[in-house]
Amino acid sequence: AEKTHGFVGADLAALAREAAMVVLRRLINEGKISPEHEKIPPEVLQELRVRKADFYEALKMVDPSALREVLIEMPNVRWDDIGGLEEVKQELKEAVEWPMKYPKAFQRLGIEPPRGVLLYGPPGTGKTLLAKAVATESEANFIGIRGPEVLSKWVGESEKRVREIFRKARQAAPTVIFIDEIDAIAPARGIEGDRVTDRLINQLLTEMDGIERNSGVVVIAATNRPDILDPALLRPGRFDRLILVPAPDEKARLEILRVHTKRVPLAEDVNLKELAKKTEGYSGADIEALVREAALVAMRRIMGELPAEVVEEESEEFLERLRVSRKDFEAALKKVRPSITPYMVEYYQNFDENRRKRG
Ligand code: ADP
Repeated sequence: AEKTHGFVGADLAALAREAAMVVLRRLINEGKISPEHEKIPPEVLQELRVRKADFYEALKMVDPSALREVLIEMPNVRWDDIGGLEEVKQELKEAVEWPMKYPKAFQRLGIEPPRGVLLYGPPGTGKTLLAKAVATESEANFIGIRGPEVLSKWVGESEKRVREIFRKARQAAPTVIFIDEIDAIAPARGIEGDRVTDRLINQLLTEMDGIERNSGVVVIAATNRPDILDPALLRPGRFDRLILVPAPDEKARLEILRVHTKRVPLAEDVNLKELAKKTEGYSGADIEALVREAALVAMRRIMGELPAEVVEEESEEFLERLRVSRKDFEAALKKVRPSITPYMVEYYQNFDENRRKRG
């Protein structure tokens, strides 16, 4: 019971089944159970028992993240934890937060809130963060799934899982269902030509079409590849709100640097504005990594500057000295490189422009 924190009933059943399979596999491997036996020998029957170690073995195999996929989370990301993206935040507030908080007002005004919102843009620019923040700020529950995991882990039961997710979402409404890397499960039909994904998309579309207006369930999906998505997904009433989450410009990078250095002691020579200038092409995730790297560089440097005893006992002097300096950032800049190329920026801009042209 202690080791299965967060498991729901169905997960425990899966664990028990897996533990039994561990026993069976072992006995078959050892040749104690084989097709030659007409009956299982009595001494082997004795061994057909699930022991503690078998449960531990099963715990390794019943992947907790696969279990968590249908679990409801309550994220704790606030709008203020996200640097830049002011327009995107505003759009999400109006499209998701308001309808969840003020369903009656929307009904009275006859405004139909979107059932689905698609966030697209380069990796690491805050799409997941935005989905979590909108859930937190709307006081909604959050169910997160990742496209690639769905395919690899839900083998043979993906439609059932999709149904289950929407059922839970309705039960726990208001709920944000977040599908990260949706392109993995919903590439245009014919590209992959795979029946499993076809059935999965159909199930997803059926569930989305069934979301009642003002029921407090909204689906937010994220992708780096909006161009390969099945167009059926983008039809009215489905993911009909497309929002570009762009690479951060200099001003946004400054804000992201501020978010990630909030709790980091900085030396006086650190100039965040200058760092924002120098980090062209860095995504939010890159900036987070940069700050972490700079802190490690600082720690290494300061450990080298002080006598071993002072470091060993984590003395006041040592802790006091732990400040990240401009030079530490410079060293970190050489190690953590930008992940967004000009080509990528152009690609998303083009997609955005074409979409607007098409209306
Ligand atoms: P995406 O879903 O777009 O790939 P994420 O939202 O998962 O990106 O971002 C990964 C990490 O990068 C976040 O947990 C956060 O620490 C950092 N990050 C990304 N964008 C921002 C941002 N705009 N402001 C602050 N942190 C950010």
